[in-house]
Amino acid sequence: MKRTALVTGGSRGIGRAVCLELARRGRRVAVNFARNAEAARRVVEEVAAGGGEAASFGADVSDPGAVRKMFAGVEKKWGPVEILVNNAGVTADNLLLRMGEDAWRRVLEVNLTSAFLCSKAAVRGMVRARWGRIVCVGSVAGAAGNPGQVNYAASKAGLIGFSKSLAKEVGSRGITVNVVAPGFIATDMTARLGAEEAIRSGTSLGRIGQPEEVAVAVGFLTSEEASYVTGQVLRVDGGLAV
Ligand code: NAP
Repeated sequence: MKRTALVTGGSRGIGRAVCLELARRGRRVAVNFARNAEAARRVVEEVAAGGGEAASFGADVSDPGAVRKMFAGVEKKWGPVEILVNNAGVTADNLLLRMGEDAWRRVLEVNLTSAFLCSKAAVRGMVRARWGRIVCVGSVAGAAGNPGQVNYAASKAGLIGFSKSLAKEVGSRGITVNVVAPGFIATDMTARLGAEEAIRSGTSLGRIGQPEEVAVAVGFLTSEEASYVTGQVLRVDGGLAV
């Protein structure tokens, strides 16, 4: 069905794969980016090449004014956002004793406050339409923790509490809210980790995941058919915790 979707951080990695998956499912896709306009433009072109409809919208999703402007732009073009994927995320790793307040604040703002701002902007229209799908991209680190990532793990754990609470608030209006929690996925974010062997041996499937393997989970949770699934955390981690 032709519904309007907004994917934050849709220009690269998992967000890019989600944009392509949602377009494949017939959604109009607003591809959000922060700095990399060229990458976002390429995603829009890829969607168009596949016969879909997409447009890019630059906005730092931790900035309330920029989020308001972005939603106004999407709404003007296609009407209210019916599917929101809170995917944008950053890391700024360090051990607690060495972590500056900037690194704490920035990661919480981009990964968690953004979900608050974007969901708030989207929910009004969803309530009116009595239909909506929100998916937050969390992380296995949100449940298990990770040394050097107190900021990142706290932001991802926060997304779980946020999503479960919002699921309870808006469920009676036909709106579902879920979390997809990826394990180690091959993107720019993990390219610099250099821990491939440890990651491989830690998963049941014995390999790192691909962005497309996360995107299909988001595709399902945002589908018409996933109407009775809400408040859940779906791990896409190759069996990391099995
Ligand atoms: P990535 O390759 O580094 O891409 C990050 C995306 O987020 C880019 O599109 C980037 O836009 C956008 N972004 C960053 N800051 C932003 C901001 N302030 N406003 C708007 N957009 C912003 O990351 P990824 O690996 O695909 O990660 C995507 C999500 O999955 C994140 O939430 C991450 O925490 C989560 N995750 C990833 C993994 C993994 O193994 N890769 C595992 C668990 C969870 P620009 O192109 O403009 O910079």
